[in-house]
Amino acid sequence: MKIERYHNLYQITFLPSAFPINCFVMEQEDGLICIDMGVGRFADYVKEIVLQTGKPLNKLMLTHAHSDHVNGVPYFKEVFPEVPVGISKRDSYLLKKDFRLLENEADKPIKGGFPKNLIPIDFTFEGGEKIEALEVISSPGHTPGSVSFFEPEHKVLIVGDAFQTRGGIAVAGVLKWLFPFPKMATWNNEIAVQSAKKLLCLQPELLAAGHGNVLVHPEEQMQAAIKIAEAGGRK
Ligand SMILES: [Zn+2]
Repeated sequence: MKIERYHNLYQITFLPSAFPINCFVMEQEDGLICIDMGVGRFADYVKEIVLQTGKPLNKLMLTHAHSDHVNGVPYFKEVFPEVPVGISKRDSYLLKKDFRLLENEADKPIKGGFPKNLIPIDFTFEGGEKIEALEVISSPGHTPGSVSFFEPEHKVLIVGDAFQTRGGIAVAGVLKWLFPFPKMATWNNEIAVQSAKKLLCLQPELLAAGHGNVLVHPEEQMQAAIKIAEAGGRK
């Protein structure tokens, strides 16, 4: 486990050199918000941040329903029984093992690993809401209900797997040989590119992806990654 800090954002990384999975904790004036809970052990580190900062943990929010972003929720609930857990309404169906596509969705198979056990969810969002310091940005493509979270004061953007930075920055759906897993788990490449462009428009100062390092001043790199994604993954 590795912990890094950027402004008001803590990054906790499981297996940093093999299959890195990130959990983020955003510090606000009146409390903390946690984003993603891929493995239960993250909760112990989040607890340490709670103790260090003396601030309560207000919420856990999930970027999407893949196992490596939600599998730790049951243990998290043991450590923080009072803290509500939220996910997009669309991806909440995937947690209930309902993989049917909605009428307005392209007919492509939903891919990737989903949790075997029940993941308790307390609230859902659809994108466009402001929850605590975070704007919920609908950013589908990797899964139909993927969301990102944007903290406008410090321009921190947490994207789940809409981008990856491990193995080189890439938009969801573009293969990176050094870390091919997000590509293999991506539902809809075309929608993923549209979402990536929408995220770039936020002009983030920090890009925090589910797998890989946090990027500081990421705009040019995001632009280049979008260009490659638009060319179908070819440079
Ligand atoms: Zn994923």
